[in-house]
Amino acid sequence: MFRLSLILLLAGLLVQPACKSPQLVMGKWQDGLEIRKVSPGLFIHTSPINLSNGQVYPCNGMIFMDQGEAVVFDTPVYQKDTEALLQWLLEEQKVKVKAIIPTHFHEDCLGGLPVFHKAGIRSYANRATYELAKDQAEELPQELFEGSHTFQVGRKTVECWYPGEAHTKDNIVAWVPSRKVLFGGCMLKALGVGKGNLADANVETWSASMEAVKKRYPNLKLAIPGHGESGGMELLDFTIKMFNNQISAIHQDTEHFCNHKFYGFSRSFAKLPVRPIGQDSVAGKGLVSQ
Ligand SMILES: [Zn+2]
Ligand SMILES: [Zn+2]
Repeated sequence: MFRLSLILLLAGLLVQPACKSPQLVMGKWQDGLEIRKVSPGLFIHTSPINLSNGQVYPCNGMIFMDQGEAVVFDTPVYQKDTEALLQWLLEEQKVKVKAIIPTHFHEDCLGGLPVFHKAGIRSYANRATYELAKDQAEELPQELFEGSHTFQVGRKTVECWYPGEAHTKDNIVAWVPSRKVLFGGCMLKALGVGKGNLADANVETWSASMEAVKKRYPNLKLAIPGHGESGGMELLDFTIKMFNNQISAIHQDTEHFCNHKFYGFSRSFAKLPVRPIGQDSVAGKGLVSQ
């Protein structure tokens, strides 16, 4: 009997894929906020963006929690979906959200910042993200770091790292070392997709920047793109290949992820100074105020 159980167990392990696909926790992104669980404390949040051509696309972000603390990468585009995300975090998960980190300056990363700020949750970003956002975003990141920064979350860490220009000049990736999970944001392409919105891209350096990500995280188990399905290292390879040998002429795809036309924001907020780092900084070191 024991031997049979053991055989069944081993057979089960063999058919188990190397990385289980994330499991649905709540919602359907077409209707608003969707949350999927990657592993305990690690989630993907997905919500829609309505493009000017009438199409609706899903936008991904990442949540990492440990010991009652959480950090969130990228906000939903819209207030309603951001409120739903905060409600889930604060009321259902009952975590203290230590930071919201937009991974570049487009609205599918920071559109929901006003909702986070209103809830007293501080935002952290690459300085370049602040500089690029300040002419078009309603609300700007509060705490700035130079390219890269490591956040403490409970007893674990998450690394934000700037690999070079790609989808935008400021794009960073997030790495959870304890899980070997990479949130690549919009510089990482899901398999089979097009180039997306290249309005702010550097197509000449994109492949090299993605090569740098690959080199830094050679043992990754899951790679989460800004739009579409997660996977493994093949997403990085797909992205590298897509932008290999690019000529300088910028080609606009038929797809328009992160469409700028949806920055219908008042610009009066844009010049607000970044507040200095408070006592509640996630990790004061390396952070600078504007
Ligand atoms: Zn973007
Ligand atoms: Zn995007």
